[in-house]
Amino acid sequence: MEELKDLEELKKISQEDYMTGLLNRRGGITKITEYIEENPDTKCAFIIFDGDNFKKINDTFGHQCGDNVIISSAQEINRQFSGKGIIFRLGGDEFVVFYRDVDVERLKIKLDEFITLCNKASVIGGRKVAFTFSIGVSIYPDDGRDFDELMKRADDALYKAKYDGKARCCFYKKNMAMPVREQFMFDLDEFSRGLPGGFFVYEASGDEQILYVGDSLVKMYNCRNIDEFRNHVGNSFKGMIHPDDLERAEKEIYEQQFNTPQNVNRMDYVRYRIICKDGEIKTVDDYGHLVHDINYGMVYYVFLLDLEDHIFKETRA
Ligand code: GH3
Ligand code: MG
Repeated sequence: MEELKDLEELKKISQEDYMTGLLNRRGGITKITEYIEENPDTKCAFIIFDGDNFKKINDTFGHQCGDNVIISSAQEINRQFSGKGIIFRLGGDEFVVFYRDVDVERLKIKLDEFITLCNKASVIGGRKVAFTFSIGVSIYPDDGRDFDELMKRADDALYKAKYDGKARCCFYKKNMAMPVREQFMFDLDEFSRGLPGGFFVYEASGDEQILYVGDSLVKMYNCRNIDEFRNHVGNSFKGMIHPDDLERAEKEIYEQQFNTPQNVNRMDYVRYRIICKDGEIKTVDDYGHLVHDINYGMVYYVFLLDLEDHIFKETRA
């Protein structure tokens, strides 16, 4: 009798995710397979949730904070879906809900509401963080009749949701136009290194703090690394411009952004000089795009071109 209890306990532990207390992958497969065998005629939804840009949460706030976000997400998913769902943690920032006896139209509304709920920034480590989920869904029995098939289809739908811009839900469709998966192999640093110029992002308000700097930009300023660059320019867009050009350049950006009603895409273009770390002066073209970021508010994405590198430099003013 005692041995049987131990065995039950062991089975429970082997099917549990130690961090969130939800089922783990093994537990999820077992429960879902059992359910399908016992209820072959019940329409169900296989829903995968994957955190958006979760690595950034770890990188910015630390792994412990990342763990806390995973735990609180698990609690929220459990709160929202435990009534009709078999829930498990697939691993990392991924969760699955197998939603029994589903009304697809109702589920769509529920998932959209869940995404909106996540999108509201919460306070983590004293700082506001917006953490969102992308969601992929497949339907039993229409899209697949067993765990593996349903998982594969929901995963395709999830990739589509990521590709379409994240923080959204996508249901699997036959003949769905699938994004090229190679697209996901590029990360931001690699991407900005490959651009034919410097790339950076800065806050549109306050001290115009620099939020992201690509390696090519660091090289353009003849700096050895990002820290040297940030020091050299005081980590502000203002510090990146030659002091004699600063006022004019900022005025030109402002005029184009805010006093040009037809500029609906919030683009600007301005030419100014920069002073490199070793004193060299260069003339650059600045192509800016003002956008809203869920974590930082209004930010400028800027592409900077050194005119000396430019094939058409003879046309230079
Ligand atoms: P995407 O928007 O494309 O989903 O990008 P992502 O940054 O969320 O990356 P992805 O989903 O591919 O990978 C999840 C990352 O979560 C990988 C790993 O760095 C991190 N991670 C995995 N398990 C844990 C964990 O238990 N704790 C913490 N803090 N981080 C984890
Ligand atoms: Mg993720």
